[in-house]
Amino acid sequence: MSADRSAALRGLPSVDQLVRRLRPEAPDVPRPRLTAIVREVLEAERRRVRVGPAVSADADALAARVVEILTRTGPFSLRAVVNATGVVLHTNLGRALLSPLALERLTRVGGAYSNLELDIATKERGSRYSHVEGLLQRLTGAEGALVVNNNAAAVLLALETLAHGREVIVSRGELIEIGGEFRIPDIMLRSGAVLREVGTTNRTHLRDYAEAIGPNTALLLKVHTSNYRVVGFTSDVSSRELVELGRQRSLPVMEDLGSGSLLDLRSHGFPHEPTVPEVVGSGVDLVSFSGDKLLGGPQAGIVVGRRELVTRLKKNPWNRALRIDKLTLAALEATLYAYDAGQALETVPTLRFLTEPLASVRRRAQRVLSRLPADVRRRLAARLVEDRAQVGGGALPTVELPTAAVQLGATPEAARALDAGLRRSDPPVIGRIVDDRLLLDCRTVLPSQVAALAAAIVTAAGMTAQ
Ligand SMILES: *Cc1c(COP(=O)(O)O)cnc(C)c1O
Repeated sequence: MSADRSAALRGLPSVDQLVRRLRPEAPDVPRPRLTAIVREVLEAERRRVRVGPAVSADADALAARVVEILTRTGPFSLRAVVNATGVVLHTNLGRALLSPLALERLTRVGGAYSNLELDIATKERGSRYSHVEGLLQRLTGAEGALVVNNNAAAVLLALETLAHGREVIVSRGELIEIGGEFRIPDIMLRSGAVLREVGTTNRTHLRDYAEAIGPNTALLLKVHTSNYRVVGFTSDVSSRELVELGRQRSLPVMEDLGSGSLLDLRSHGFPHEPTVPEVVGSGVDLVSFSGDKLLGGPQAGIVVGRRELVTRLKKNPWNRALRIDKLTLAALEATLYAYDAGQALETVPTLRFLTEPLASVRRRAQRVLSRLPADVRRRLAARLVEDRAQVGGGALPTVELPTAAVQLGATPEAARALDAGLRRSDPPVIGRIVDDRLLLDCRTVLPSQVAALAAAIVTAAGMTAQ
């Protein structure tokens, strides 16, 4: 390293010096957090000096950078962002948003003691599941219902309860991996169940299941292939056929529906997806699905089906480790209430995003655009474009939603700089780069975020202006 580079590195203040200097400016910031940011800024500066010009920023400039990070990020790590990706169920961005009613129930129940496990009429111990059981029975037609932490937990619990040390027959075409390390064969291994694959990747017939049944078979399992589709020369066995086979051989049938919609969205232009009531109606003994995918509620795993099997799941000690908490229950009850009251399409954000007409999304994009001053618009080559967006969350993988976006960036470099700049704004804006341009997809931008989004664009334009 050159002598002036070494001198520049030596000239940097120490972590301690910077922290002491910043203390009076940031009295409310917990010291460990302040120290962490100071370290981060100093480390970035050292990296810069090692590769760039051999001069380091002075203490004033470094302190200003720390303050900038502190004000930008606020005291909390988990924050609201503007989802301008257009992906309605974006797992990395928290999947489903809660309805106003769900939010209200959540604060009510979280801020006071509740009858979580108390039967108020008898003053005896009640069941936390009772708060949503009736709703789930009504909405799905099932006899029994149970809710756990998430759908992965629901599948694990069901397999552990019904098939520990025994065989579960699954079609090879359904041995899926969905994002976040959920692989059906792995879950099965952990549950102690023995996987018995049948059929081939593209075709599985009823006789494949029938021939695999033996004295050690405990369960026939059907898994929704969620995030992919096999197309072409394919064949799979319907829930109804599997149920018939299960009845003949006295074996329970379970279906992991993944997303699990309660409503048929065909009238809104979506392809047919088996709904939970349909699958229950076909006679499947246990059906599991997520609370925060198409249902549009909080993270949860819902199991509905034959009462006797659901009771066995409830009594499994594993259930205690996978159980749902009261805040989730409060939000889930409110979400299910909306379906029961026939208000889901109007009030559940996920369903609103999915069914919002293109013209309405376009108007929102237009509102963002019209808030940008003319010079900013020109410099960023801002314009309204139409595109296709994905539903996400492993739901409806072949569906592409028509959508409208604000396109930004005159060059690929400008687009990338704007993308980075917008992620640093408050709230952070997450867009997507398509064909070297930044697209801010407005299907998933809340009407209440339009002004903040436009302001963030103006700020990012200023930062990247050269
Ligand atoms: C999404 C999904 C899961 C996991 O659900 P989580 O609620 O995310 O745990 C399991 N199975 C299928 C088929 C899925 O699509």
